[in-house]
Amino acid sequence: MATATAQNLSFVLEGIHQVKFEDRPIPELKNAHDVIINVKYTGICGSDVHYWEHGSIGSFVVKDPMVLGHESAGVISKVGSAVTSLKVGDRVAMEPGIACRRCEPCKGGKYNLCENMEFAATPPYDGTLAKYYVLPEDFCYKLPEHLSLQEGALMEPLSVAVHIVRQAQVSPGQSVVVFGAGPVGLLCCAVATAFGASKVIAVDIQKPRLDFAKDYAVTSTFMPSKAPATENAERLKRENDLGGGADVAIDASGAEPSVHTGIHVLRNGGTYVQGGMGRSEMNFPIMAACSKELNIKGSFRYGSGDYKLAVQLVSTGKVDVKRLITGTVKFEEAEQAFKEVKAGKGIKTLIAGIDA
Ligand SMILES: [Zn+2]
Ligand SMILES: [Zn+2]
Repeated sequence: MATATAQNLSFVLEGIHQVKFEDRPIPELKNAHDVIINVKYTGICGSDVHYWEHGSIGSFVVKDPMVLGHESAGVISKVGSAVTSLKVGDRVAMEPGIACRRCEPCKGGKYNLCENMEFAATPPYDGTLAKYYVLPEDFCYKLPEHLSLQEGALMEPLSVAVHIVRQAQVSPGQSVVVFGAGPVGLLCCAVATAFGASKVIAVDIQKPRLDFAKDYAVTSTFMPSKAPATENAERLKRENDLGGGADVAIDASGAEPSVHTGIHVLRNGGTYVQGGMGRSEMNFPIMAACSKELNIKGSFRYGSGDYKLAVQLVSTGKVDVKRLITGTVKFEEAEQAFKEVKAGKGIKTLIAGIDA
């Protein structure tokens, strides 16, 4: 429903598989530290597709129409009166979750765990698939001149990977096994390599994904068989000369067999990080976790310093995000991008924005 004054075309989810383009009001500067961004590229990920397909993720249920998208980069089109770090025309990666800065996790330095988080495309908050989006200046990260806005859109999944690898405390010389060779899994491999891991092993059940991983950022790949997790873990250790087991296992798949194999592939005292989101409840090899005295951690989105490091890793050439971009569609064809992700086509499809 376009009106004469509205000029903020947005891609809105109304219900399961029901999307529409809606011209909404241009967002306003709510605070002197806010900036308005003309969104240029947006990546689509599993969570967007999940809302489109099911209308909910866990306890987050889409009740009112919601703009989709949260992996974006754009150009600053307006700045609030107190903004000092950015000016109109600056190209930025957009961190799409605004923390309250007042709750205990925020004050404790873990704002990704904010109790009042307003996260793009998580109900009831609108996402970034619009012509314009508003953010506080400190949630925008200026892109160095040699980085493209397309690369800028990839800073979101890369920040997810940075946070996971930081949670795992990967250090030089370590062996890291990453389950799931989708965008986040691949980026975890790249970040672990950048952190100095000497063995990085990607695990997936799809051969094309492993073939890509092989010449992207891993030392080897592993395709599990239908055998029990303990057997797959033994074979993985043997094939990769891991002795008593890997130092770190990261799950970026959310699949139960991966979680099991991840626990069994670790050495005594190893570290396991859950990054993937699959079923909310599953069986878990708790005895192995206990007797091996594993460090088990979750990882959720990204926190202080993660976006900054993501931009640095790409800008210094330590992580290549360009190769993950396998297609770009026009804004008007946004739904096509969702269909492609759903069909498992390509690695990362971007949706172009609408120029100001
Ligand atoms: Zn995402
Ligand atoms: Zn908070």
